[in-house]
Amino acid sequence: MVRYTDVKSKADAKFTPKSMNIHRVVIKIGTSILAQGRDAGEASVLESLVGEICDFQSRKWEMILVTSGAIGMGVRELGWARRPQDIPRKQAAAAVGQVGLMGTYQKLFGARGATVAQVLLSRGDFEDRRRYLNARNTLQTLIGLGVVPIINENDTVAVDEIRFGDNDRLSAMVAAKMSAGTLVILSDVDGLYRSSARRESDLVGMVPEITAEVERLAWKSRSDGPGTGGMASKIDAAKIASHSGVVTVVANGFRPGVLGEILAGKPAGTKFLAAGKLSAREKWLLFGAVPKGDLVVDSGAEAALRERRKSLLAIGVTAVRGAFRKGDVVRIRGVSGREIARGTVNFSSEDTGRIRGLKSSEVRSALGSGTASGEVVHRDSLALLP
Ligand code: GLU
Repeated sequence: MVRYTDVKSKADAKFTPKSMNIHRVVIKIGTSILAQGRDAGEASVLESLVGEICDFQSRKWEMILVTSGAIGMGVRELGWARRPQDIPRKQAAAAVGQVGLMGTYQKLFGARGATVAQVLLSRGDFEDRRRYLNARNTLQTLIGLGVVPIINENDTVAVDEIRFGDNDRLSAMVAAKMSAGTLVILSDVDGLYRSSARRESDLVGMVPEITAEVERLAWKSRSDGPGTGGMASKIDAAKIASHSGVVTVVANGFRPGVLGEILAGKPAGTKFLAAGKLSAREKWLLFGAVPKGDLVVDSGAEAALRERRKSLLAIGVTAVRGAFRKGDVVRIRGVSGREIARGTVNFSSEDTGRIRGLKSSEVRSALGSGTASGEVVHRDSLALLP
């Protein structure tokens, strides 16, 4: 039996910004965990995780679940031999499977006297402030009622460009928006490895900052299981969470008592510390909004943005890609093509194309407008990539 403390470890409290609720935890359960034990009828891994979640909840921790597995269950229910590749059939499978998925959770939580709620979210729900506030209020109310919210992507309405991409990202956004102290991503991998040999001694226990080198380790930690995300998407999720002030732990859900160990601050899996330096607006620009196009800038502009935190002027823009309107979010790329920032643009793609490379004094006559300045993206509407 694993013992856990009611208060998280001092280390976590130190790295968790005060605005976050350190006893609020978002747990993402991957497809690999749901796929296990279905046929055998044995006490499944899911059952023990549910037990742990209920234990924590009874000790006044607030638990929010993000689950995958709807498509997998739908495929089974429909008697298909394999996962479909096309979107309509994936969406159909998800719609069928979501019923069974929730049924499974309802049974397992119900056996412990706990009530669950189904919450299906789409990316647009995070972009529209009113919808986001509503979703947040509902989740808050459910938690207040002692109900465990179980979230999945609303696969029926999701189209490619407005998808979260995968549930790792969804769980990070939920953790960020709900000001959770910790995000726990459970799958069939132990965490991030330093080498592809994946020996126990190669496991990275703690990542203070997600650097390019950390991202390169992702492929060494891959799993061959049925999940969709892989370590790269877990690191992306950790990045979103970290810059929102949330500590992320990526761990193996098959390890008995894993949740208790994590929440007691014991070493389990890989822990990504919270950076928490970004403002709400920067977080929204980088991780919430869907960019509508790209601006490529020259090296002078790149240095002005990165080092001197200046606005992006028309003169520094060398290429415009995509169709966007004034006020849309765009990616800003450096000379090498690497994305360096995102921001809301002051001109449509057409007008930006017309004024690119021009001095601010030439912008007005090029556009035939009396008020336009050469600021394509204002410094206050710009967020540099971490
Ligand atoms: N929403 C998908 C499902 O429930 C899962 C997406 C993912 O695993 O990342 O099947």
